[in-house]
Amino acid sequence: MTRRAPDNLAPALHWAANSLCAQTYPALFFPERGEDNTTAVSKQICRRCPVIEECLAEAMRQEGTASHSHRYGVWGGLSPAERADLAKARARWAEAA
Ligand code: SF4
Repeated sequence: MTRRAPDNLAPALHWAANSLCAQTYPALFFPERGEDNTTAVSKQICRRCPVIEECLAEAMRQEGTASHSHRYGVWGGLSPAERADLAKARARWAEAA
């Protein structure tokens, strides 16, 4: 019997195979709410990650214009609050263009 993933399953992110977080301790990247000050180590790892640009682009794509409270974890070297600020800045730049 051949087993396969359901058709509606999101495809694996090809760049994720090269992520440093998957080779370290993934829980570092998802601190409990209110513990954003614990992200210093995960951000240091991100800065050395070969797929940081792809990771941040994917996070921004998935999260869209969500507020800080609807974002979770460190992605692309940025905390939820930093990604929310980036999304707002990009929206302002787009309006000004
Ligand atoms: S940049 Fe993204 S993929 Fe790389 S270590 Fe950080 S969270 Fe993981």
